[in-house]
Amino acid sequence: ICPVGALTERDYTNRLLDDLANPNKVVIVQTAPAVRAALGEEFGFPPGTLVTGKMVYALRELGFDYVFDTDFAADLTIMEEGSEILNRLTRYLNGDKSIRLPILTSCCPAWVNFFEHHFPDMLDIPSTARSPQQMFGSIAKSYWAEKMGIPREKLVVVSIMPCLAKKYECDRDEFKVNGIPDVDYSISTRELARLIKRANIGFPLVLDSPFDNPMGESTGAGVIFGTTGGVMEAALRSVYEIYTGEPLQNVNFEQVRGLNGVRRATINLNGFELKVGIAHGLGNARHLLEDIRNGHNEYHVIEIMACPGGCIGGGGQPLHHGNSEVLYARANALYREDANKALRKSHDNPYIKKLYEEYLGKPLGEISETLLHTHYFNKSMD
Ligand code: SF4
Repeated sequence: ICPVGALTERDYTNRLLDDLANPNKVVIVQTAPAVRAALGEEFGFPPGTLVTGKMVYALRELGFDYVFDTDFAADLTIMEEGSEILNRLTRYLNGDKSIRLPILTSCCPAWVNFFEHHFPDMLDIPSTARSPQQMFGSIAKSYWAEKMGIPREKLVVVSIMPCLAKKYECDRDEFKVNGIPDVDYSISTRELARLIKRANIGFPLVLDSPFDNPMGESTGAGVIFGTTGGVMEAALRSVYEIYTGEPLQNVNFEQVRGLNGVRRATINLNGFELKVGIAHGLGNARHLLEDIRNGHNEYHVIEIMACPGGCIGGGGQPLHHGNSEVLYARANALYREDANKALRKSHDNPYIKKLYEEYLGKPLGEISETLLHTHYFNKSMD
């Protein structure tokens, strides 16, 4: 089985063009954080050029009715996953024998596919939080569609992803309501570049355009999801403040950044030493999981991403041929965008707060569990 879906890559560009031309459809799009750091390479920009505003402009030109940001859903992921980390950790420390640690991040569908096939005895340790792509689709087709008065069957949710595994993630049955997927289909960064070229949009020259709201507003924490260590850093920013009740003085957790295959850090939460691990590449992930299976676990929380470098090095991105300078440049672009954001912690996102006030109630509440969490399957016999 190809964990990243490259052997079953599907091209949805013609379906997208049909949907965009259909006056009876409302077609909206979400763009993953890593896309903005690499799309420019297809148009002659050097690696690490941020083209966020140009990308939004081009998507409007292609005919999308609303252009939103997956980074918004990354902030939402931190609200749910961060709460889950705190909940599990507290219960574990209070002696609840039903809790197993470490908790593993679950935003990467190739990684999810991998542990469902190879580690079915450990399905209780990954976080149940859906990936940002799927959280976005779920909220778009419930909260936002209801607000806008758009029937579910009329709304088409498209995602632009650095990823080939996201194409089959949309198709998983648990992410459908009455047979209609939350995210209808996913287009890769390279496919988007081809569409922009086919439409003769002068990408290098176009002006910047802002995302639409409410699902276009994000914090810096949402942006760094696109690089290895970013999900962990985003979670730490929120977990620290919620656990200690104190403001975080320095939001940059440099110790979790970088491109080493496995990284470790200890974070002091007012006397409690939280031990975290980060791995990218499925070979590294396998070693970590085998250690855990054999009872050698030194971590409370682990982030795993299937692709080298995380999503910046995803299979749907402009080809980088394993060049680590390209990966560093893309990662640094995301850290720059993070540093330039007015808000850098997911729980400070005003639209996320509003979403909980108006609709979800609270993280890990009944509605959140239904719309934003999932479960896993033993696929070892597939
Ligand atoms: Fe997709 Fe790779 Fe990112 Fe995983 S790490 S979500 S496979 S691009």
